[in-house]
Amino acid sequence: MDTLGMLHLLKAEPTLMPVAPDDASGEDIERRRRDEVHACLACGERATTALLVQDPHGTWQGKRWLDLCWKDFTRVRTSA
Ligand SMILES: [Zn+2]
Repeated sequence: MDTLGMLHLLKAEPTLMPVAPDDASGEDIERRRRDEVHACLACGERATTALLVQDPHGTWQGKRWLDLCWKDFTRVRTSA
């Protein structure tokens, strides 16, 4: 599944997702996941995973953070 399919599955609106720095790396992902508190985009529980998503078609610019709890991360991953 591509990025947009995944966001569709989560009923996520990319333009409402937090903007990530263009040069965000694995280290930034780790820090966001471990040291920061964010709400899961799908259910509002505390997020334990962070993904960087980009629109392959360029209808929105740059990278966005996708914060998910483990349950929703697994749900998305298994349907991908
Ligand atoms: Zn969740």
